[in-house]
Amino acid sequence: MKLSYYCSSPSCKKLNYIKVKSNNRFDLKTEIGIEINERCKHCGNHTKRHINRLHAAPNYKIITGGLLLAVVFTILFWDLGFITTLSGSLSIAIWMSEEKKASVFNKLLIRD
Ligand SMILES: [Zn+2]
Repeated sequence: MKLSYYCSSPSCKKLNYIKVKSNNRFDLKTEIGIEINERCKHCGNHTKRHINRLHAAPNYKIITGGLLLAVVFTILFWDLGFITTLSGSLSIAIWMSEEKKASVFNKLLIRD
């Protein structure tokens, strides 16, 4: 899961991303603890954040991969006709599942 947070430095406040293995905050707590202490990639300041304040973003690499795969399949199997619908709905399904994973993560908060 790709998580985002804003830098705590008032002069920076830029968006940072961290990558974690966990797909929910309960696992995240075991993986990285109750809060992060990450160095900002833009200004170098350390930001402390409770893990409830980290937001998940859909993995656009997977979504783009799904779309590319759909395009390739459509070109390869153009003669079959129905494949356009099939690959189209498959890439939408991948997209939806990525969005859902992120929104499930964001809805679930842990208690201290
Ligand atoms: Zn910063």
